[in-house]
Amino acid sequence: MRLVLVGPPGAGKGTQAERLAERLDVPHISTGDLFRANLSEETPLGVEARRYMDAGDLVPDSVTVAMVRDRLTEDDAAKGFLLDGFPRTVSQADSLGEILTERGEALDAVVEFQVAEDELVTRLMARGRSDDTEDVIRRRQQVYRDETAPLLDYYRDRLVTVDAVGSVDEVTDRVAEALRAR
Ligand code: ADP
Repeated sequence: MRLVLVGPPGAGKGTQAERLAERLDVPHISTGDLFRANLSEETPLGVEARRYMDAGDLVPDSVTVAMVRDRLTEDDAAKGFLLDGFPRTVSQADSLGEILTERGEALDAVVEFQVAEDELVTRLMARGRSDDTEDVIRRRQQVYRDETAPLLDYYRDRLVTVDAVGSVDEVTDRVAEALRAR
């Protein structure tokens, strides 16, 4: 199974991604986690990414796409994958399309996590990651609306929309059920 998860910051994508990846037996590939790992190891990629992440801006596509392309060449991604946080722009989606075409693969579904915006800010303020200050949160929400939300139309023929308000278990079950019912 080849899946992409899309949803605004705070929608609980990361938590659900881990659980779904386990259920589906595919690797969970999170660009946010990959960037944070590079940041903490102070790799050149991490140093480059830091200033964008700290501002709530997107890391440039050239850097992000190369990182994902690399990750997808690892053995565990041969059987499928669950992408979390990528693609985040139409241009990244075009690049992913090219990467998959080269591999003779295609996405099975794109899962959208739906949560009202008020609920999102409350959740993120409670999480307390270093880039979870109010200004940066607002900036990330705006980037989502401007850059990422257009993907919902881009992927309309493969889109599976799930109400992401509820307990963690409830939401996981909803996604699994929506994927089965597709
Ligand atoms: P959130 O879902 O809360 O926005 P992530 O962990 O997915 O957090 O991402 C954190 C930061 O990493 C983003 O604000 C951005 O700077 C960077 N990032 C993650 N994925 C991408 C991507 N696909 N393209 C560009 N930047 C990204």
